[in-house]
Amino acid sequence: MTTLLATEPVTVSRLHAPTLCTLPDAVAENLRRVRAVTAVPIMAVVKADGYGHGAVTVARAAVAAGADWLGVTDVAEAVALRDAGLEVPILSWLNPSGVDAEAAAAHRIDIAIGSVEELCQLIADAADPVRVHLHLDTGMARGGCPLDDWSELFRLARSGRGRVEVVGLMGHLPRADEADPTANAAAVLRMRQGRDAMLRAGLGPVLVHLAATSGALTDPATHFGMVRIGAGLVGIDPSETTALFGASRWTAPVVHSALVPAGTAVGYGGTHLTARETHLAVVGVGYADGVPRELAPGAGVAIGGVRHPIVGRVSMDQIVVDTGAALLPRGAVATVFGPDGGAVPSVQEWARWAGTIPHTVVTGIGARVRRSIA
Ligand SMILES: *Cc1c(COP(=O)(O)O)cnc(C)c1O
Repeated sequence: MTTLLATEPVTVSRLHAPTLCTLPDAVAENLRRVRAVTAVPIMAVVKADGYGHGAVTVARAAVAAGADWLGVTDVAEAVALRDAGLEVPILSWLNPSGVDAEAAAAHRIDIAIGSVEELCQLIADAADPVRVHLHLDTGMARGGCPLDDWSELFRLARSGRGRVEVVGLMGHLPRADEADPTANAAAVLRMRQGRDAMLRAGLGPVLVHLAATSGALTDPATHFGMVRIGAGLVGIDPSETTALFGASRWTAPVVHSALVPAGTAVGYGGTHLTARETHLAVVGVGYADGVPRELAPGAGVAIGGVRHPIVGRVSMDQIVVDTGAALLPRGAVATVFGPDGGAVPSVQEWARWAGTIPHTVVTGIGARVRRSIA
């Protein structure tokens, strides 16, 4: 071993690999913020890999902080949560690859059913009884059984007893982020109608749930028997009414830096010319990692407690930052976003720079960015 060590180079440059660090304490605190505004059970929604923060990490933090249920969009995601030791009820909706009825029954995964067709299929496939939540369209025309089909859906659910056990009724709010209860009134009414119609059809009472983060935070009339919280867990409040905590920090290394003269063209197309002699630092993340390619002026990253602007085009794997008088050495760590405030940009700032919503920023971070947990 000694001889091997002796042949190693004297200096090695160890870079801090691009990393997204999830902050479970922030998830827990966000869960508590929701708990403070509602007494009903809380479903922690961890679809899209926990909004990019790691489904198991977010689920564990949320359940430890008091979440009662978990929600995902397919059975495979739900089974992964079971395999990680999570025991609370799990609901899977959408199921774009179809429902694996055997896995759903074996792992106690509840399935949301949004059409007569889907219910027929599940009844045909289910050897062992599968727990079902009927998903009604409450005004979004994006999934959920349309009003005209409700009676057929309920009839079929009754006749399928033994293969499906109806335990829930769900809807979704199309306009909750407006933070105005009158915007939700139609959906709330529709949900009540659905609940009553289901009871009349001899299928109830069951767990009724409608609200996601915005509804939970702004409108108690939407809470029914449970609220489903996804964005809020990772610090995103679509209603922008409640102070939540960013639940991740994205860092990346300076891989190269140099002093350049005034008038230097930076990046593809030379779209930026330096106005003065300045230092440029190349940071090792780009659009393949989820940095939005189209950015408004003012976009930047924090290095050493100072916000530095991104200049020139975002490349596939790298961005260039103008650090002015400061020569930041290779290996310096840039914070792309984080909850820290001050020089550190928030996910919400990135969304504004990119003309998008914070959700797309956090769910768009590439696979090669390392994941860690604080
Ligand atoms: C994504 C989703 C949620 C969570 O919504 P947030 O606004 O992220 O809290 C709740 N319910 C359904 C059906 C969803 O698809």
